[in-house]
Amino acid sequence: MSTKYIFFTGGVVSSVGKGVTAAAVGRLLKERGFTVAVQKLDPYINVDPGTMSPYQHGEVFVLDDGAETDLDLGHYERLIDVRLNKACNVTTGQVYADVIAKERRGDFLGGTIQVIPHITNEIKRRIAMVSKMTGAEIVLVEVGGTVGDIESLPFLEALRQLRSDMGRGNTLYIHVTWLPYIGATEELKTKPTQHSVRELRSIGISPDMIVARSDTPIDEGICEKIAQFCDVEKRAVIPMVTAPILYEIPLLLEKAHVGDFLMDRLGLKPTKKPNWKSWEKLVEETKKTKPSVSIALVGKYVELHDAYISVREALKHAALALGVELDLKWIHSVDLEKGREIDKLESVSGVIVPGGFGSRGIEGKINAAHFARVNKIPYFGLCLGMQLMVVEFGREVLQTENVNSSEFDRTTPNPVIDLMDDQQDIANLGGTMRLGLYPCELQPNTIALKAYGVDKVEERHRHRFEFNNQYRESFAQKGMKFSGLSPDGKLVEIAELVDHPFMLGTQFHPEFLSRPTRPHPLFVQFMRAVCEKAGITAQEPPLSFENSL
Ligand code: GLN
Repeated sequence: MSTKYIFFTGGVVSSVGKGVTAAAVGRLLKERGFTVAVQKLDPYINVDPGTMSPYQHGEVFVLDDGAETDLDLGHYERLIDVRLNKACNVTTGQVYADVIAKERRGDFLGGTIQVIPHITNEIKRRIAMVSKMTGAEIVLVEVGGTVGDIESLPFLEALRQLRSDMGRGNTLYIHVTWLPYIGATEELKTKPTQHSVRELRSIGISPDMIVARSDTPIDEGICEKIAQFCDVEKRAVIPMVTAPILYEIPLLLEKAHVGDFLMDRLGLKPTKKPNWKSWEKLVEETKKTKPSVSIALVGKYVELHDAYISVREALKHAALALGVELDLKWIHSVDLEKGREIDKLESVSGVIVPGGFGSRGIEGKINAAHFARVNKIPYFGLCLGMQLMVVEFGREVLQTENVNSSEFDRTTPNPVIDLMDDQQDIANLGGTMRLGLYPCELQPNTIALKAYGVDKVEERHRHRFEFNNQYRESFAQKGMKFSGLSPDGKLVEIAELVDHPFMLGTQFHPEFLSRPTRPHPLFVQFMRAVCEKAGITAQEPPLSFENSL
């Protein structure tokens, strides 16, 4: 069969839920037996989000091959349960960098390089690459931003051309819009949707389906109106009221017959009947009232929850499997500096310190690690969180405050966390960290090995600094175990404390591989310790939501 393409555009406002919608549509297709991949086209000029502040962009999601990508890739991987690769996130910056490099090489000698056809051809080449690199039968392509933005025009033009290149039966356009609610007259308005569809038409794209998002119920009449004014079949106007549970969205789309419509319009025959049993169980369990456990997430970008979206989801997956409700307290690390407000941690049963860069709020995170260690509160450190757990322990072992990561104090006499050898001479900051999947061997008699149940794993990385081996022996004598090592034994991948119920840090980011149906083993083990601290009996064995796929 020739590859089928489904294109997602957004209208009216940004943050309308295009990414989640695309991911959920991907799930519908996977449930019907197709192999699916999703690609995000980001109109900004950065080559990737790796060098952007989380305040600007939210979390940077890392893939197996080390690609630093948009957080929507996390939605795709979690909802569809696929492993994507670097072809799946394209930015304007990448497209232009490639075209300009070709021009300098002389590939277009004699020609004038223009947006159409050179830039649009490069975009189309990159879209075609997804099925080649993943083998997917159906490729979903989401365009970032909102229709009407100047930046996304070349992407939309490429999508327009693809319909004639590949044929009507192989392409489908889904436009996701927002219906504002006017309180005074108590009604939902379709006009902005009509305008954004008109805008899309003026570019040459007629949507085949409109997903209308809203915070309040959408009645039949509204859908009929959208169908009539926007020239879309009535069955292809999908009302999507904000769902309190993200993982319910595939079920809602299935109920609205989105899957059947796609089969019909793309001329596809499902190779299997969708089986939503375990997914329904997952949603049902989420809705149940459960005992709650509070965990403090100590970060420096906590004002923007999107900066830690995979961490939050991974915690939720583990909590759900153990039959408890996650009560996440967002704590700004700066607030914990100089001992201030550290008592905020007194009421929680677990502390998680996620990744980060730069020195703001670092001492606050170290204080959190100290508080968790001496008060025997379960502590889970992810990348930077692991490094700071090591710094805090080092201050205790070496009996001096003069212990740090050389990221925060270049001249510290005790750089227990230091720049990796191959990072010493790096001049360019973009895409040059230790990135992507690396093997890790788990050592006997450790919490890490017990959690994983296997002795070799592969996890995703994104960092420049690492544990300084000069300190391994003295730390080990005082009770730190290096429970995960690179196969050559040279890199510390996991560290944990002996005399503590759960004080463990990973140099990698386990949160990127957690799935709603398959919570990450380290998150589950951390959550067990949290439940114990809270005096709650965890569900054992953990609930399983493994799909029949
Ligand atoms: N800033 C640290 C490093 O580069 C940690 C990175 C992270 O937390 N992802 O090693």
